[in-house]
Amino acid sequence: MRILLVGIIAAVLLGVLPDTGLSQESVEVFDANAATDAYLATFSGAEREASDAYFEGGYWLILWNMLYGLLVAATILGKKRSARIRDWCEARVNNKFVQTVIYGGIYTVFSFVLSLPISIYQGFFREHQYGLATQSFGPWFSEHLIGLGVGVIMGGLFIGIIYAVIRKTRDHWWIWASGVTIVFLMIGIMLSPVFIEPLFNEYTPLDDPAIEQPILQMARAANVGVDRVYVVDASEQSNRISANVSGFLATKRIALNDNLLNRGSLPEIKAVMGHEIGHYVLNHIYYMILELGLVFAAGFFFINWAYPRAREKWGDNWGIRDISDVAGLPLFSAVFSVYLFAMTPVMNTIIRVGESDADVYGLDAAREPDGFATIALKLGQYRKLEPGYLEEMILFDHPSGRTRIQMAMDWKAEHLDEIMASEDDIDLKERTEE
Ligand SMILES: [Zn+2]
Repeated sequence: MRILLVGIIAAVLLGVLPDTGLSQESVEVFDANAATDAYLATFSGAEREASDAYFEGGYWLILWNMLYGLLVAATILGKKRSARIRDWCEARVNNKFVQTVIYGGIYTVFSFVLSLPISIYQGFFREHQYGLATQSFGPWFSEHLIGLGVGVIMGGLFIGIIYAVIRKTRDHWWIWASGVTIVFLMIGIMLSPVFIEPLFNEYTPLDDPAIEQPILQMARAANVGVDRVYVVDASEQSNRISANVSGFLATKRIALNDNLLNRGSLPEIKAVMGHEIGHYVLNHIYYMILELGLVFAAGFFFINWAYPRAREKWGDNWGIRDISDVAGLPLFSAVFSVYLFAMTPVMNTIIRVGESDADVYGLDAAREPDGFATIALKLGQYRKLEPGYLEEMILFDHPSGRTRIQMAMDWKAEHLDEIMASEDDIDLKERTEE
């Protein structure tokens, strides 16, 4: 009896006994981990090294940008420069609000000019160094100037409103300012597709039904009220593959960029657009605004605490008054940039969690795990594919390539019967067509 039992167990272990279930067979045929490794192995050598170097350099840029920003703030504050700009505004205009708007505009221009060295390196030379940019310096710089124009108008207005709030609500300004920021953010997001995005790129309706229809099919199935898909000519600036959802309420729109359109297969495009539709269906824009509002509230609270202390300690030759003095704006934004620097892991995680949810949604909607995996590899052009666990938690605002491919392969493993059935359908169709 015991011998028989041992024999059966040995037979099972050795795989002698006949297999009973189909699904078990499929599990043996497809190994999600091995498939993930196999995909990642196709992106190696110099290409992989460049991708890692580009992305890791970006970690340091977070630090350098923050420190450089402090230097800029110190320069504008020093020798009472900021205070003199405020006096100049006050001497010309009586209205407090208008004074702060003008100061805000001038401040934006000053910090733009002082930041040129790092922004030209980062936005132009570095992008070319890694072969990501397609623009020569002239067009790049003129777009940079358009950005400044937008910044002067929007920034000046925002600064004017925030300081009006500070003057009105005093001690509790940080709560009110957070509310105002949320409203400003919503208006900005709503108006951006109409007024801001066209300043940099052209959005045209996608006129290829073979690609548009499968995307709209996903959108209709999810009850997303869009009836057109747009193509944005991102190749003007770079060769990055991307897509986006923007606007909200009446201005919402989904767009894929022409790099994706030209270099992506239909399964890849479907995978990406399923992800983008996921952002809509999951109401990410509302969560994002709410979460950012909370981050801002904590940041303003921190400024309220740190501003008077910093002024006390270093402000002898600044000539700035309390928090309601617009001449203190460079200090205000310096404190905020230190706060945001410290919040990098939180901000990244807020965004990354949303991106990951959109991935899950996109896989279910597009049902293209292999397209999803290959597009994740293509994004390896500018995003490190295999970071360490903590590295991804702290420094990634999107899931890494490995995480995404693993997710896609796990999805595939659980839907293998369905995928094989649809492949059988295709075989059958091809045979009947022959
Ligand atoms: Zn996304």
